[in-house]
Amino acid sequence: MTSSMEWIRRYYDVPARHRMRIEYDGKPATIVGTRGPYLAFRVDGEKRIRWDHPTYRIVYPAVPEPARPRGWCEHCTKDRAMTKDGVMGEHRWSGRNWSEPCPGSGKPPWKPVRNQTHPGEQVAS
Ligand SMILES: [Zn+2]
Repeated sequence: MTSSMEWIRRYYDVPARHRMRIEYDGKPATIVGTRGPYLAFRVDGEKRIRWDHPTYRIVYPAVPEPARPRGWCEHCTKDRAMTKDGVMGEHRWSGRNWSEPCPGSGKPPWKPVRNQTHPGEQVAS
């Protein structure tokens, strides 16, 4: 089972993680989880938890580029390191046997891992 947070990262090209500090509608907030396809977070100073679309009025922090580019493996759908040649590095997967490399190793990624900071609609300034 993949986590919803991973699904959000993969689907929306954002770096969402538990406890990440974000801005929502211009206000500082902390990610506390997911609600289905939505991101759950608590705006600083508020008791209630809000949730909203992962690219709606959310600004993510800039995440440094990894030393090696990463891609989403087409086979196991995981975020894995890529080689200099732009294919998925060899990695294990949980399909049948941990001792076998994932069949997606050495193949092009489904798409590169991206960490967008302003992925969608934002408050008009
Ligand atoms: Zn894989």
